[in-house]
Amino acid sequence: MPFSKLGLSAPFLATIEKSGYAAPYPIQTAAIPAILAGKDVLGIAQTGSGKTAGFVLPILQQFQQKPAARNRHIKALVLVPTRELAVQVGSVFQLFSENLPRPVKSLAVFGGVSINPQMMKLQGVEILIATPGRLLDLMAHNALYLSDVDVLVLDEADKMLNLGFQEEMHRIFAALPALRQNLLFSATLGKDVHTITEMLLRQPVRIEITPEAEHVELIKQVAYRVTDERKGPLLRYLIKEQNLQQVLVFTSSVYKADGVVHKLKTNGVVALALHSQKSQGARTDALRYFKSGEINVLVATDLASRGIDIPTLPVVINYELPRSPKDFIHRIGRTGRAGATGLAISFVTPQDEEHFRVIQKKMGQWVDMVETEGWNLRGY
Ligand code: AMP
Repeated sequence: MPFSKLGLSAPFLATIEKSGYAAPYPIQTAAIPAILAGKDVLGIAQTGSGKTAGFVLPILQQFQQKPAARNRHIKALVLVPTRELAVQVGSVFQLFSENLPRPVKSLAVFGGVSINPQMMKLQGVEILIATPGRLLDLMAHNALYLSDVDVLVLDEADKMLNLGFQEEMHRIFAALPALRQNLLFSATLGKDVHTITEMLLRQPVRIEITPEAEHVELIKQVAYRVTDERKGPLLRYLIKEQNLQQVLVFTSSVYKADGVVHKLKTNGVVALALHSQKSQGARTDALRYFKSGEINVLVATDLASRGIDIPTLPVVINYELPRSPKDFIHRIGRTGRAGATGLAISFVTPQDEEHFRVIQKKMGQWVDMVETEGWNLRGY
């Protein structure tokens, strides 16, 4: 089904065409008409599914019929778990707000940066994308009011709960008017998310997208059998010999991520780490440099990597395997998106082999194992 059949008006279709979206993704086909019809939506979908445009487009279209908001009384609220996601979702709102007959002002706010500039920018804002903590801070400053909100979006609700935002979320819900449309997106539907959906959603349209199963086939995978001590040289060998340009490397700990970056740097590879111990500013910068190609290698932990959107990521390397097969699929799902083939490389130590078998079984795909013992990695 083409975008033109989803009920979107001409200015949106023009921007969609300009963005090079050839056809709607499944979540968009299902969510856009449901949201335009005013229904609540429960979307089980991950980053990469196209869920953001799936709610941004219909929300902006609904605004075309809405009277102007009272100042500092936002009308749509999008709650997100991280600063990175706030920025990403904010940029999708900006993109589709181009050339609208009724202009709509949106703003992304998040913690870790000074609050004053954000308070100043709130003037005239009708759609707010916010992390829970910063939203509550702004409310405490009387910088904005939620009493006119008629659309609430919870994006990556599972991560919001994982990051311990329960209490903040409940305080925010309490400040919202009872009558509103609710859209909830989550990669998983665990017990806690279920409780929230029961509480918030009224007869939701349920949309479940499992991109990974169909997706994993698009990803070329290879595993290298390697001892722990030789992982660093092997990584540098692969990056240098295969001239890899944009590599996302996963480690299991902050400590390891820093160690890998340090070693890469001392060996002349431009790399940065992305993990929870880095300041918000450092995280955004690292992501920006990586996306623009100023650095070739980003070394990330699982938590920090959530919500990262780099559409054409060519290579992911599992320097250390994650404990859960789900995280493994999530990691490699960062490559080979939107029809492009990606490469996922896994380093497997002798101690990892049994665990790697479990991962492959869960994933439903067996990966070629390459023996590296005889490789001369001296000098890398
Ligand atoms: P999301 O899951 O919302 O983070 O989107 C993942 C990526 O897919 C983003 O880079 C979008 O720009 C891109 N995207 C979303 N919808 C489409 C579409 N219909 N066609 C092509 N790319 C899309």
